[in-house]
Amino acid sequence: MIVIPVYNKLVLPEATTYILNDEISEKNLQEIKEGEKVILLLLKKPETEETLNAESFYQVGVSGVVGKSQFENYTAIETEKRVNIDDVYIGKNGDIELSISKREDVNDIDEEELKGRLRQIKAATLDYAKQFQGGQMAAVVLARWTSFEQIASSVSMWLTLSNEERYEIIREDSKLTRSQMIEKVLYEALEIANLNQEANEVTNKDYQKLYRESAIKKQMDYLQKELDEMHPENVSDIQKFQKKIEASKMNDVARKEANKVLNRMKQEGQNSSEYGILYDYLDFVTGLSWETEKAKKIDLDYASEVLDEEHFGMEKVKDRVIQQIAVMNLKKKQSGSILLFIGAPGTGKTSIGQNIAKALKREYVRVSLGGVRDEADIRGHRRTYIGAMPGRIMDGISKSGVSNPVVVLDEVDKIASSYHGDPASALLEVLDPEQNHTFTDHYMNVPYDLSNVMFICTANSLETIPEPLLNRMEVIQFQGYTATDKFQIARKHLLPKAMKAMGVNEKHLEITDDALMSIIENYTMESGVRGLKKRLDTLCRITAVELVKGTEDKITVTVDNVKAYLDAKPIRHGKIIKEKKPGIVTGLAWTAAGGDILFIETMFTPGNGKVIITGQLESVMEESVKVAISLVKSIYPDKADLFKENDLHIHIPEGAVKKDGPSAGITLTTALASLIQGKAISPELAMTGEISLRGKVMPIGGLPEKLMAAQRAGVTTVLIPDDNEIDLEDVDDEVKDKLEIKTVKTIDEVLGIALG
Ligand code: ADP
Repeated sequence: MIVIPVYNKLVLPEATTYILNDEISEKNLQEIKEGEKVILLLLKKPETEETLNAESFYQVGVSGVVGKSQFENYTAIETEKRVNIDDVYIGKNGDIELSISKREDVNDIDEEELKGRLRQIKAATLDYAKQFQGGQMAAVVLARWTSFEQIASSVSMWLTLSNEERYEIIREDSKLTRSQMIEKVLYEALEIANLNQEANEVTNKDYQKLYRESAIKKQMDYLQKELDEMHPENVSDIQKFQKKIEASKMNDVARKEANKVLNRMKQEGQNSSEYGILYDYLDFVTGLSWETEKAKKIDLDYASEVLDEEHFGMEKVKDRVIQQIAVMNLKKKQSGSILLFIGAPGTGKTSIGQNIAKALKREYVRVSLGGVRDEADIRGHRRTYIGAMPGRIMDGISKSGVSNPVVVLDEVDKIASSYHGDPASALLEVLDPEQNHTFTDHYMNVPYDLSNVMFICTANSLETIPEPLLNRMEVIQFQGYTATDKFQIARKHLLPKAMKAMGVNEKHLEITDDALMSIIENYTMESGVRGLKKRLDTLCRITAVELVKGTEDKITVTVDNVKAYLDAKPIRHGKIIKEKKPGIVTGLAWTAAGGDILFIETMFTPGNGKVIITGQLESVMEESVKVAISLVKSIYPDKADLFKENDLHIHIPEGAVKKDGPSAGITLTTALASLIQGKAISPELAMTGEISLRGKVMPIGGLPEKLMAAQRAGVTTVLIPDDNEIDLEDVDDEVKDKLEIKTVKTIDEVLGIALG
């Protein structure tokens, strides 16, 4: 027999009582087995094993046996009878020994009447329970109750009774009175519960919403599982994205959006037209790297080695790049100032960008901005738009697979604005370090951190780049290559690469030095080396074909056969005309492919003061012509009438390449001066410079390219604006050695040199 003291517990005969195992002594717990006899002793006040004594207990206890417990941590006791505790003896080791006797009930209860009262209390309890979800289930439990004792034991934890009140009930011998006592307590408890419930209804609306929400979610999950079983083909997509979203290091905003889209995807099902759109979205955002890559220290020696390996010359550019890397190392940053590479096509802007990525051991992506007119090209379309796509920037980042690639934004000078918004301002947001850590592509609709991306921009000319954009960038000029540079580049880089790409080696193809120089001088006309690369590719391709055909096992390209191999006519460069005539002057122009010479031809015809302009620069020349005429009239007032008595025709012959820019001010003025003076000017003298109405010579752009063109065309003397003298630093010695370069400040100086 096990003796278990209990405190503050309603223990009644012929019911099931649960006792928390923690409240049972270790020793008793070890002995507890189903079916074991038990006496429950009621404590008067809480006591520990040490303080227990004979006076600690009430005089009525309950006998029972250990039952089967449905709950972990609890022992179930099936109570049987009430007993009188006649004597208590507590041993030295804490064992409790008892002397007990039966305590008889007074059976004064009418069974029929009892059943009626039980029905009523059950109905009241059920009414109460029904207010809750699943409350109907209570009916099942209630049906099992056949006595007030059972009910009270089951709900004892909700009954507000003191220890004494409990004892009052247990010691009552009259069955009728005892049932009435219990009945009263139960009805009271129900009343209190009902009251609480009403109060809760008012205050706990929010809680209810919360419970409701979680219940609905559970329900949805359950239904989703059912759906998944019906359509296993959808499951793989959903699960795939679920896993990807979980694994991704997305920011909270992005994760929320991704989960929202995932939920929509679940609801839509695979046959819906939306499904594909949602799929694409998740595929895109989960494909992005959301990880913040740590800044790595870059070994400067290694970096310059990599840069030298792939590119010949370009010392200034390489130095600037190394400086940038050093600054990034110092600041422990992954991006620095935004570099803008300016130069003619084929001067290595893009490829050095790629090379920088290699030097930094980072991923590289090229994003072409040529022809971008729509803001959405940069920032993406909103997803409500049919066929929406991310913008080119995020698309590029996604392709790189990392969050810190080196991104080369090609052709920033080719973006234009249109009624679809201003792409330049969107680009500003991309490049601005103040804003780009939360760049929000419209398609993604969530911010992405671009602050670790290293942006490099390229452009052919500065003129069309919007001012605010230009202000954010650091301009690095790429000069055109001289013939000697090109020769080196071809030998060291272009030719070996082309041969490797076509599977040709030195045994199969030889290009003599003279032939290579001839290709450079007669078959390409550019500052860069793109055309040259194409020509060399062609030669390698021809060799490959010959080898495969087996007609020849080695091709040697010489000056004599180069024309036949290339199957192309040599390009005619602007060469100076030998004949001298008043009114004709050699000028220099900048073209997209580098520099070129141009001729300004002027002539008087009988007439009455009309001015006719024809030829290539027609549209931009009008103003320069007006300035030149006024200037010439003021310098030679005695000849001014010539302009009234004649018509003036100005012509600039079209060349092979479109020329740009109105920097022909002094050339035009000199041509008019030569015309009215009737003095011819040597075609070997060329000039470039803008002019003001006061006759001041003003600076121009593209000096290195222009001088290179002058030298190529056979010019011997060049007049350049005094303000451009500092640009001579950028001009190759090879060019400077062959030209006599004179700087001029005023038109008088120009005319002095030209007309003597
Ligand atoms: P850009 O971007 O200025 O138009 P690219 O970078 O596309 O020019 O260069 C065209 C080709 O010329 C590339 O194959 C590049 O490797 C090669 N190239 C240009 N400059 C050099 C150089 N200095 N050394 C070696 N190769 C060069």
